[in-house]
Amino acid sequence: MTVTHTGTAYVYVDFGAIRIQSYLTRTAGLRGHRAASDSLARATAPGIVEGVVGQLAEVNDEAGEADGVVSLRLTPVAGEDLKARVERLQDRVFAHLRQALPGAEFHSVWGQGEYYLNAYDKEIHPKTEAGDVRYDLPATAEFPLAVPCAMCHTDPAATWETVTGKRQRLCPDCSMRNVPRRRSAGDGRSPEGRLAESLPVTHAAPEDFAALAALGHARSGRNHLATVAIDGNAFGEFFKALAKEGSEDAQMRDWKKSISQSLSAATRDALAEATVNLPLTIERDQVVVVPHVVGGDDVLVSLPADQAWEFTLAFLREFGQAVHAATAGILEVLNRRRAQRAQGETSLEAPTASAGIVFAHSSYPLSLLVELAGQRLSEAKRAVRGKAASVQWLDITADGTEAPGHDPLRLSTLRTPAGDPTLEAQALSALARVPASHRARLAEALRSDGEITAAVIAHRVGHLKAVQPFLSPFDQQNAPPPTGIGLGAALGIARWWPCA
Ligand SMILES: [Zn+2]
Repeated sequence: MTVTHTGTAYVYVDFGAIRIQSYLTRTAGLRGHRAASDSLARATAPGIVEGVVGQLAEVNDEAGEADGVVSLRLTPVAGEDLKARVERLQDRVFAHLRQALPGAEFHSVWGQGEYYLNAYDKEIHPKTEAGDVRYDLPATAEFPLAVPCAMCHTDPAATWETVTGKRQRLCPDCSMRNVPRRRSAGDGRSPEGRLAESLPVTHAAPEDFAALAALGHARSGRNHLATVAIDGNAFGEFFKALAKEGSEDAQMRDWKKSISQSLSAATRDALAEATVNLPLTIERDQVVVVPHVVGGDDVLVSLPADQAWEFTLAFLREFGQAVHAATAGILEVLNRRRAQRAQGETSLEAPTASAGIVFAHSSYPLSLLVELAGQRLSEAKRAVRGKAASVQWLDITADGTEAPGHDPLRLSTLRTPAGDPTLEAQALSALARVPASHRARLAEALRSDGEITAAVIAHRVGHLKAVQPFLSPFDQQNAPPPTGIGLGAALGIARWWPCA
């Protein structure tokens, strides 16, 4: 019997934790998140996964690194029942992940293609969007009257354990989380471990959120944290365009194979650069940023509130530059070909990233902050329709949890491509130097009596110059302020803006 090859070089099988951010943050306190994050990192480490899958598949080295994701590749053998082989592989990986992370939800999806990029574009991504995936969910309670777990209040308790000196009934997932913090050097695969390894600093990040907030400068009050959610813009469009191009030349083949890796490297590099360049990192000789999840082009971190703007702006800039460098050659070729085809295909630009920042007291539950930061991130992305780096923010202590009334900002408003502050950013620094009590008074006057009253007060206390860039010109009350940022928004930003 002659066997005809289908022309498909590989089968790619992906596994991922569903809603990984809310899973990791389902217990209160940094200790539990860290333990879950470490377990996830260990369970998905290539060396471990290779041992689990044996001869069934290999680790897919075309996929970039992302927390909670396992990507495998196999070569179909002529005449075999491919579906059965994939299911056998899924059974094995699911069983392994389930043991490491008892309470997580996983899914798996597979597709065929000459390159991962193509399999992803043609099958894996559309199947994932359509929910055409295989799920693996945590075991449900065998006894409906089981006592709920004392730590997560989500799953039924299965064991008695000592949690910070007290005997408590825990579910298997919280039991996994109930471990002392690991400080071993071999733990370099968790997002925190990887960041620490890449920085030339002596001290690890603090034990809990209160201690992290306390690293801020004295004038910050040392009890507020920022949660920052960052995600790439227009990566889907870029990947799709690259996947669609013919692979006749070696350069294009090489790009298709390596692009996921270079973009996830850009994310990790931007995180390290933005962290190491914070003045507080150097001052303390300590890691002052705690990353919870680092994906291909997305990042979720906690850090002292007064470091958030500098960190976020530096990240967006570094990321933009790294992505630009990684995609410049590809875009040149893609755009030349698109122009030649002249079928109304517009030219592509290098992808960027946007961010959502939420400021809150360090005792505020991370699970809620993650959700609110995600909403701000969506607003920031929507405002620029994925075409530029942008930021939206919310200060829960000052304004509550309602959606903010101010517009997201573009990175280009606050920082030049060389990283220098723009005139707008310099005006914010000047406003941040106004004593906090005066700024609070201005905010109050603005809320109750409007802009003119606020301006009068600013004049009386000698801060009109700092306020003016955020006021409409006196003779044109409907015109935008010179900076394009209204006084209300500016006062909100100034609260956590570096005043140096
Ligand atoms: Zn639990």
